[in-house]
Amino acid sequence: MSEITDDDGTFEEQRERVDEPMRRLFATYGRRDWSALVLGLLAGVGAHAFGVVPPYLLGVALDSVFEDSGRAFTLPLVPDAWLPTAPADQFWLIAGLVAASYLLAAVCAWVMGFGLNAFAQRVQHKVRTDTYDAMQSLDLGFFSDKQTGELMSILNNDVNRLEQFLNGGLNMATRITFIIVSTGGVLLYVNWQLALVTMGVVPVIAVFTHYFVQAIQPKYAEVRSTVGTMNSRLENNLGGIAVIKASTAEAHESEQVEDASREYFDTNWEAITTRIKFFPGLQLTAGIGFVVTFVVGGLWVFSGPPLFLTGTLSVGEFVTFIMLSQRFVWPLAQFGQLINLYQRAYASSERVFGLMDEPGHLDVDEDAPDLTVTDGRVEYDGVTFAYDEDDDAEEDHADPEPVVEDLNFTVEGGEMLALVGPTGAGKSTALKLLMRLYDVGEGAIRVDGQDVREVSLPSLRRTVGYVGQETFLFYGSVADNVRYGAFDADREDVIEAAKMAEAHEFVTDLEDGYDTEVGERGVKLSGGQRQRIAIARVLLQDPEILVLDEATSDVDTETEVRIQESIETLVEDRTVLAIAHRLSTIKDADQILVVEDGEITERGTHDELLAAEGTYADLWGVQAGRLEDLPEGTATAD
Ligand code: ADP
Repeated sequence: MSEITDDDGTFEEQRERVDEPMRRLFATYGRRDWSALVLGLLAGVGAHAFGVVPPYLLGVALDSVFEDSGRAFTLPLVPDAWLPTAPADQFWLIAGLVAASYLLAAVCAWVMGFGLNAFAQRVQHKVRTDTYDAMQSLDLGFFSDKQTGELMSILNNDVNRLEQFLNGGLNMATRITFIIVSTGGVLLYVNWQLALVTMGVVPVIAVFTHYFVQAIQPKYAEVRSTVGTMNSRLENNLGGIAVIKASTAEAHESEQVEDASREYFDTNWEAITTRIKFFPGLQLTAGIGFVVTFVVGGLWVFSGPPLFLTGTLSVGEFVTFIMLSQRFVWPLAQFGQLINLYQRAYASSERVFGLMDEPGHLDVDEDAPDLTVTDGRVEYDGVTFAYDEDDDAEEDHADPEPVVEDLNFTVEGGEMLALVGPTGAGKSTALKLLMRLYDVGEGAIRVDGQDVREVSLPSLRRTVGYVGQETFLFYGSVADNVRYGAFDADREDVIEAAKMAEAHEFVTDLEDGYDTEVGERGVKLSGGQRQRIAIARVLLQDPEILVLDEATSDVDTETEVRIQESIETLVEDRTVLAIAHRLSTIKDADQILVVEDGEITERGTHDELLAAEGTYADLWGVQAGRLEDLPEGTATAD
């Protein structure tokens, strides 16, 4: 997963909306933690300043302490009157200063690492949590046309890239700037003419690095894209392993994987062959620069200034040059890498901020009053809705057909309404609108007379509970899962709810009872068991209104009976809107609506609808035919 997206087309639309992402990163997140950043940068200045002291002092020592070259024993920034005159004292002073410089450079390097890393980590943490929060608040429509992998990749890879830049990149930028400034400064101070000779390699290295970056970047992009393709294939194959085996497609899939891997090999090899030429080339350039400095400086020391140069160069100064010119070249070589890090961070921050700026399609009013529930009366008034009315993913849904159209019905408090009809008729969609997972296109949904769009979202969602076809179990224990949404509930309440949901028995049979880990990495529970946990969950939340999307999956008769019993406990004293597949379960509903193609085609009680001899009666006939063989009451009683 790690390299699926980079500077490719993912999240293009969101990226385009973001201006100056790096500036925004520093302005928004850098400001909070500026003290760590400033501390790191200042310490960086110190580390590099102390780093150039020893070569300089060694040069002074060579000239003035060991040799009497005529160079006076002076130190920059230190008044001559403070300096000792005896060579032995001078020697020990230099030794002490060199040791102190190394020590201080190390302390500064430590503080720099601390400051910059702390800055990078804090920014990373905040960016990730802010992005997650922003994403979580988006409506379901956003998630249905994005791939989970894409979103994960932003929360992980892109945020990590920002960290890499803030950490490694800033470190590198600091190092490059300070080494060049401090080393270049000392070289110019000691002998500006020879310094210019040494710096002659700078433009050569700059041009060389520039061409290298130009050459390697498209290759890296290609490598990332082939890694992405290969990972998607591997992921997909692992997910479909059962189908692969059942279709004896192993050989076919091995070939596909081999092709993908081969392509990765080829593109990567091309990138590698380019990269491995770079460092030797750079070393050679730096070496040539070094030789030129050595020859010019050496001749100068031997026999006075060569060519058009003037003045003198002592042995000590020459040694300082030799030591420092090495330090000067390497940071330049890292410049290309820095540009690369910056560009990647730029693309990543565009995606991160693009996600943060994604407009919510729900018009949420933060100051809306809470919903006040009196009876739990639900009213659909001319409700029409189509998916994808907004700009996203137009190419897939060019013409948004309404999925539900002009729905009108009222459920009185404590009553049960059932929706029946063929798959795809729009039943689930109609009920999602009540929970405001989407907002109605036209018309209004009211709870006890209050439009759901005009009350606070949390109060609405607390009022409306949901038991769906599939129960998602979160990572955690059975108790955690029952408690989900009513996080403060204590153990007794959890057990009580589980008992009412007919779940207590199987839970206590599990190895660790209520503490058994479930979810993807935990114990696997059957569909029926999961459903009972979901029912316990909702019982604990105790909502006034219940949305029930009956499971279509076949469970054995005994489980079905038990689920049915727990549902009966659940629906007592609540307003219920249920989607039913097995008509036997909703026979007693106060009102049954037949939905076909997004519209209500029949309405009434079970008996009325049977008498009307329409679609419902036909459906009942088909299902009753299947049930005829069973003894009376099997579906609802012990
Ligand atoms: P039912 O619950 O009656 O089976 P649904 O409400 O699930 O029907 O679906 C109604 C229609 O809306 C179907 O044609 C389905 O393909 C479409 N649909 C459901 N969910 C989405 C979605 N997130 N985006 C776009 N279309 C959807």
